[in-house]
Amino acid sequence: MKAVQLISHGVPGQFQISELPDPQPGPEEVILEVKACGLNHLDLWCEAGALPIPLRLPLTPGCEIAGRITALGADVDEWRVGERVAVQSNLFCGECEFCLRGDESLCLNSQLIGVQRDGGFAERVIVPWRALVRLPEDVSFEASAALTLAGSTAMHMLTDRAEVHPGEWVLVVGGASGVGSVAIQIAKGLGARVASTGSTEVKRELAKSLGADFVLDSNLANWPAEVRRITEKRGIDLIIEHSGGQVLERAFDCLARGGTIVTCGATSGREVTLNLWPFFVKQHRLIGSYGRNRSDMAAVLDWAAKGKLKPVIDRTYPLAETVRAFAQLRDRNVLGKLLIVP
Ligand SMILES: [Zn+2]
Repeated sequence: MKAVQLISHGVPGQFQISELPDPQPGPEEVILEVKACGLNHLDLWCEAGALPIPLRLPLTPGCEIAGRITALGADVDEWRVGERVAVQSNLFCGECEFCLRGDESLCLNSQLIGVQRDGGFAERVIVPWRALVRLPEDVSFEASAALTLAGSTAMHMLTDRAEVHPGEWVLVVGGASGVGSVAIQIAKGLGARVASTGSTEVKRELAKSLGADFVLDSNLANWPAEVRRITEKRGIDLIIEHSGGQVLERAFDCLARGGTIVTCGATSGREVTLNLWPFFVKQHRLIGSYGRNRSDMAAVLDWAAKGKLKPVIDRTYPLAETVRAFAQLRDRNVLGKLLIVP
């Protein structure tokens, strides 16, 4: 089978397309024919060698996998050859304290597919059966590969880590991003009033078309003041944040009393200054969110099947042009998702 392999780190890294032996499943694994695989910022960190995790090269990246089962390990009873599936990319053990209570995203033995083991930029991939989520008939492989990682991250933030009540104000930072584009749709689906930020007119138009009631230019020096104006000085109940750094610091200026920020990323900076006085006086909350549970993926796919969530796909590349897809994402010249379709 053909697979894209990262053979040395860099910006850009060095890739090759290799002809590898067909993979064989271990007892608790299945083989998938990859039908589509989404490209994510995580893949760029892998490429650059910028993750705080040791990686073994050569490595086939690709963590947002949708495909069809072609072979089953000896101990796999729950699945059949031919079934259409999506893959929970943060693999979990199913046995630790946190897995047993359904919090797979807290697993003590977690492993990232496409990072710590070969992922989906290949014709076939080995996956533990535990990580599979059934794909509803009405959801295409492409839609799944565009929604399941960032989309289920957003679902985890909005429904597991925090709650949204009808009529509340939700601010989605970066509404044209992978997490943001789905967060807008979920927050609207849950009955919230949604504001969102975007750095260009095209991104703000996209946020609006996805349902945002208000969009703000994140280049404005005083964008938090604009948020306070829109909410008649009251502020926002829940902020979905994935940038970190100064963006997170400024988000506190947008919060209503009793408001919550949920954050899942740090592309703009890992260290922030927190002014504790307004934090406790206004009884704010800052909540971390990481990955997702299978239940979040199932929810995203169910919403997609019902037409309540639509994927935003910028472009689809064949396997042979994976390097071009990496370059496009690196240049931040993307509106929605990039997909590799082997
Ligand atoms: Zn576990």
